[in-house]
Amino acid sequence: MLSGGKAAGLLGVVAAALLVPGLSAPSGLLGVSGFSGGRAFEDLKRIVALGPRPSGSVALAKTRQEISRQLKLAGLMAEEDNFTASTPVGPVPMTNVIVRIPGDQKKIVVVAGHYETKRFSDFRFVGANDGGSSAACLVELSRVLATRKNKFTYWLVFFDGEEAFGDFSETDGLYGSRHLVRKLAASGELSRLEAVIVVDMVADSDLNIHRENNSTPWLTDQVFTAARRLGYGRYFLDDPRYYIDDHVPFVNAGVAAVNLLDFSYGHGNRYWHTAEDTLDKCSPFSLTIVGRTVMATLEGLEQTLK
Ligand SMILES: [Zn+2]
Repeated sequence: MLSGGKAAGLLGVVAAALLVPGLSAPSGLLGVSGFSGGRAFEDLKRIVALGPRPSGSVALAKTRQEISRQLKLAGLMAEEDNFTASTPVGPVPMTNVIVRIPGDQKKIVVVAGHYETKRFSDFRFVGANDGGSSAACLVELSRVLATRKNKFTYWLVFFDGEEAFGDFSETDGLYGSRHLVRKLAASGELSRLEAVIVVDMVADSDLNIHRENNSTPWLTDQVFTAARRLGYGRYFLDDPRYYIDDHVPFVNAGVAAVNLLDFSYGHGNRYWHTAEDTLDKCSPFSLTIVGRTVMATLEGLEQTLK
C-alpha cells in the first residue's frame, strides 16, 4: 500500500462532505448484525499464530489451508488461482483465493483484501493488522453471506502479493489484484463486476478510515452512508487521503471500487510495517465496525443498483 500518491491517470477530486440521507429501513438487518467481530478476531488469532506469511512461504500456504478450513465449515469452497509474479527478487509463486457465492443475479460484487504479509528479513513481522485483519474480515464476511439470500453474486477475494518487494511502483506491488483484473479482462468477465470493496488494515483498535480519493466517489458515498446508518460515522472521516491499494487496478480498468483502509495505525502510523504490528493493537470491535459497514453497504447496493 502506498500513501500520498495519486494513482496514475486518475484525477483527484476534493471530497465534498456529502451527507446523504439514510436509505430506507434495511431489509436484512440480520445480515449486518450477523457479522461478529469476536469470531473474526478468533480467525485473526489463528492466522497470526502462523507467524510471518510472505508470498511463496510455507506459512502462507498454511494460511490458505486455514482459510479453506473455515470456509468449508461455512459450507463454502475456496478456489485457488496460482500464478507466478515477476518481482524485483525474481519469480515468486503466488495464489489468489476466491470464494464465489451465488446470488439471484449474474452481476458480481467483489469484497477483497490481501492475506499475505510483507517480507522483512531484519525483523519478525506478523502483520496482525496488515494482512491479517483483511483476511479475517473476509472469512467472517463469507460466513455471513453464505447464510443470506443474496441479490448479487458475491466474490470474496483474498489477494496475494499486495505488498511490494522493493519500493512500491506500478510493477512492484498489487500483484494479485493486477493478475485478477488482467484475467477477467481476458475472459470478458470484467463487465460483470458492479463494484469492488477492498478492506486493508481494518482491526486497529483506534479505527480511523478516511475517504480515499482514488476510489470511485459514488461507491465511497454508499460506504459512508452505510456507516452513518449504523452509528459508526465517527470512524469514517471525510478528510480525504490518496492510497494506492488493491482497488486501483479495478478503478484503472473502469470498475467502481473503494478502499477502506486505516492508515493511522498508532500515532504517526508508527506500527505500520514494524515488529509492533501485533494482535494487542487490534480489536474485535474495529472488525465489527468494518464488517458490518461492508454488509450494510452491500444491502444498500442491492437496493440501489438495478
Ligand atoms: Zn503493508
